[in-house]
Amino acid sequence: MKAKKQKSYALEVTLVVLVLVLAFVMQNVIKYANPPEVSKIPKGDKTALEGALAEDEIDVSEEKQGDTLPQVYNKHLTDLASAPDWKQLDAYQYTISREDFERELEEVYTINGKWKDWITTTDESAMIRMSAADGARLYELFFATEAKQERPLKFWRNRDELIVKDPGKPLLGLKIVIDPGHIGGKYAAIEEREFNHKDAPPVKEGNLTLKVAKLLAKQLETLGAEVTLTREYQAPVNRKRPSDYHKYAYSKMSKGGLWATPVAITRASEKLFYRAGEIRERAKHVNNEYRPDLVLCLHFNAGGKTEELYQEEHFHMILNGAYMDGEVAKDDQRFTMLQRVLQRIHPEEARLSAYAAVAFTAHTGLKPYQYDPDSNRALNVDKNPYLWARNLAANRSYLCPVVFYEPYLMNGADSHARIIQGDYEGLRYSNGMLRPSIFREYVNAVTEGLVSYYSNRK
Ligand SMILES: [Zn+2]
Repeated sequence: MKAKKQKSYALEVTLVVLVLVLAFVMQNVIKYANPPEVSKIPKGDKTALEGALAEDEIDVSEEKQGDTLPQVYNKHLTDLASAPDWKQLDAYQYTISREDFERELEEVYTINGKWKDWITTTDESAMIRMSAADGARLYELFFATEAKQERPLKFWRNRDELIVKDPGKPLLGLKIVIDPGHIGGKYAAIEEREFNHKDAPPVKEGNLTLKVAKLLAKQLETLGAEVTLTREYQAPVNRKRPSDYHKYAYSKMSKGGLWATPVAITRASEKLFYRAGEIRERAKHVNNEYRPDLVLCLHFNAGGKTEELYQEEHFHMILNGAYMDGEVAKDDQRFTMLQRVLQRIHPEEARLSAYAAVAFTAHTGLKPYQYDPDSNRALNVDKNPYLWARNLAANRSYLCPVVFYEPYLMNGADSHARIIQGDYEGLRYSNGMLRPSIFREYVNAVTEGLVSYYSNRK
């Protein structure tokens, strides 16, 4: 009896220990499944909106959007992307010749003929790999012939497809979306687009681009254009916040064999929020709702970090292209690249950007920026020193011609002083010269480029 009691006592102890061990294991499993919570970026006070304009660092986002985010990283897709619907290419059967198709892939979209790893062509058709994970899944796209030539499906119109014409309003009927690059305001620091020099006030790229965008919208509207801004405040368009991306960031890091520390997850989630998440949200509006004839992406460039301001400044325009090997290998990027080829976006984008560059340099006197000629991420376009093809989320995601400006240096001696001087009407002395404010110079240069391009239509 005694022995039996002792035995059951021993059993009880064993059970308790077992339960404790199990609880400990479970706790760790849960911890593993739920990445550590990181504090959210506080939302702004909506009442601050009243009477306040773009200068205020407000966040107008209300309740989060209902759509769900991908939670699991897939190495064959770009961050936050879902698998493409290749059936959409059915609308482009017999729309492009083999020659045009191959030339764009070869000269604009990929470097060193890398498209051939994914696409094989014959005189009749292209066989396109739909899935990096499954080499057997192929899409066949038939080329246009003399006997059969269909029109490609697209929402935007090129210059010659615009019908209305009025010499007093050279942009009449044109649908333009202006995309002020970055977010600015209180987000400028986490998006790493804030520049501080000595005691001068901080310079935030997202604030500068918004200021230009608002002035530009007014000017383009007086010339007859219908203008929409992707962003009207120094606040994200994306209603999600960094914490919404923790699970995805965790999944990406653990699949990539990286040590998912709380600090690393916070940083990765922030990046997903302000870059991939923000641009995807803007693109959704542009492609599904605004459907413009072109998008103007406004940016201010910056040189690498130094104590001193740069004396030499430059300007270039970015067109979509030069997909790197790893980018063509992503199913969604390969799909988007083909959509752009099939819609003939590049020829219109290149013509528009060439006009835009002439006007921009005439107004600013900025020299061209030169990429390394052997760069694996940039290709020169049409031997124009100002035009470079690069594959950025912003110019890839908008399914229409994108005119992407990359002028000035926020940490250049001349531009920094002009930015600090702020906006003003008319001309003032600025660094010893009588000039418009840097914001109005930008606006006038963009306007003139568009007017000269669209005035030249048939
Ligand atoms: Zn920028």
